[in-house]
Amino acid sequence: MNISFSGYTGRVELNKIPDRCPICHHGIEPRFMNVAYASVEPAIGRAELLFRCPRQWCQRLFLALYVDKYGYGGYDLIDCVPKTLQTRAFTDWIKKVSPVFCEIYDQASQAEQMQLLQVCGPGYRKSLESLQGLRLRTQPGRGRQHKRNVVGRLHRKICD
Ligand SMILES: [Zn+2]
Repeated sequence: MNISFSGYTGRVELNKIPDRCPICHHGIEPRFMNVAYASVEPAIGRAELLFRCPRQWCQRLFLALYVDKYGYGGYDLIDCVPKTLQTRAFTDWIKKVSPVFCEIYDQASQAEQMQLLQVCGPGYRKSLESLQGLRLRTQPGRGRQHKRNVVGRLHRKICD
């Protein structure tokens, strides 16, 4: 993609155009709004492009952020802003049985979406720990595979 704007004309090779709207989270082919910035100083290696979501009910503008890690003019997409955090859809069963699990799991998921990877892992673990009080219908003496099957069924019951 060639980008030209006042004070700077240069060739910016983008490795990828965003294929998902960071606001409505639908898969899209975004419209480039002919607004871009690329650092004049090659050592900085940063570019920002303004896109718009084509979905009728969204139509939001967002910036795609790129970096040229190696200084060769090849820019990698690293993020899009602004973005909204997605919430998980839980089944009615788990919402009724353990609203605490839903709340903790959602917070862990949002931490993961914000790249807070040291926080989301313990958050997911805490969400599972909140389920320890639930009485699962397991049959004693059926072994480890049976417990895995119970956890698998539980996972399907929790997540849509
Ligand atoms: Zn959108």
